[in-house]
Amino acid sequence: MKENSIRETSLEHAGRNPVLDVDSVRKDFPIFTQAVRGERLVFLDSAASAQKPLQVIQSISECYESQYANVHRGVYWLSEKATEAFDASREKIGAFLNSPSSSEIVFVRGATEGINLVASSYGGTFLQPGDEVVISHMEHHSNIVPWQILRDQKGIVLKVAPIRDDGSIDLEVFGNILSSKTKFVSITHVANALGTVVPVKEICDMAHSAGARVLIDGCQAVPHCEVDVQKLGCDFYVFSGHKLYGPSGIGVLYAKEELLHQMPPYQGGGDMIESVTFERTSYADPPQRFEAGTPNISGAIGLGAAVDYVRSIGLDKIAAHEADVLGYATECLSGRNDIRIIGTAANKASVLSFMIEGVHPHDVGTILDQEGIAVRTGHHCAQPVMDRFGVPSTTRASLGMYNGRDDIDALIGGLERVKELFN
Ligand code: PMP
Repeated sequence: MKENSIRETSLEHAGRNPVLDVDSVRKDFPIFTQAVRGERLVFLDSAASAQKPLQVIQSISECYESQYANVHRGVYWLSEKATEAFDASREKIGAFLNSPSSSEIVFVRGATEGINLVASSYGGTFLQPGDEVVISHMEHHSNIVPWQILRDQKGIVLKVAPIRDDGSIDLEVFGNILSSKTKFVSITHVANALGTVVPVKEICDMAHSAGARVLIDGCQAVPHCEVDVQKLGCDFYVFSGHKLYGPSGIGVLYAKEELLHQMPPYQGGGDMIESVTFERTSYADPPQRFEAGTPNISGAIGLGAAVDYVRSIGLDKIAAHEADVLGYATECLSGRNDIRIIGTAANKASVLSFMIEGVHPHDVGTILDQEGIAVRTGHHCAQPVMDRFGVPSTTRASLGMYNGRDDIDALIGGLERVKELFN
């Protein structure tokens, strides 16, 4: 057990070479120019939603200032401009995921809608009573509940792959759950409450060998590491724009083209049809088939700008930088008998969930807030994870590219104050 204070531990690490110029990155994010309760904003809640760079904010204003009209409908100049920008964004996102074709990119409201779409359209059509769907114990509620709804509607069987005490997946145990009855695996790429990076490539290979389709929930992965859907070989990949420094209310479902062609619409309405009569409607090809109604035009354009921004910084640099800051934070909080880190897998990204002995996470969050430090407290929409670790909630610090070791020092100073108040 370490004898020194949290503060001393953190100071040991001062002076290392940063791989990313955090000060210059922060200048791109206007939110950091304001003080919070008279203090510098220390934002450690990017897993819930990331802050937005000026490039994204400006792309949204430009959309409304000079190129706004409905898309895919008008024959006039402005509508063509809006359509071009909207379609260009789909192309950018396709390239970002290395999707073979941008027509495999469906705009949705977010990961939640993406998973619901797949459970309802693919699951509702191709899964039969008794078929097994495998998820893991570390899923966000949005990758649990849609499958439970399908279970109640169709009589599928939902199986849960267990996790180890460190929050990692045991691939051998996972493999033992798979059988010829397994028709679908839906699993997170990075766990939002634990930070575990899941070996999704291996999981795709194992699931495919068993004859199952695979959906990967990439919400907590795309802001932190490069994702190549062709290398992964996944059938579906979803993420939310707002965690990738883009706007809220827009997200992406990637799906293999052959699957999208086989899948029925999720919602009906304008823009998703080929022709409509009262007797019969024929549907448009994907991705339009899955985008009923006027889409989130400015959101899609803003997400394209977010992808441009992230690529301009470089995901390799972002990953290396965040690994450094997470490693620093982990070292500072490790080995203390008053702090329990929840999620200690060897391969983690961005997230540090912990408990301070004798202090409720909500109190931790409220005290930190007095110093301008924003952390998440609660069950993080992952109640089964909380149950697995026997805690009602945790305090979660999560990183974005704009966080540096100075933010961790601020957090650690704040935690000292929490301890003083509760001693
Ligand atoms: N999956 C994971 C792993 C998440 O972290 C989240 C958001 N916390 C979601 C799904 C749901 O994302 P959204 O609410 O943006 O649809």
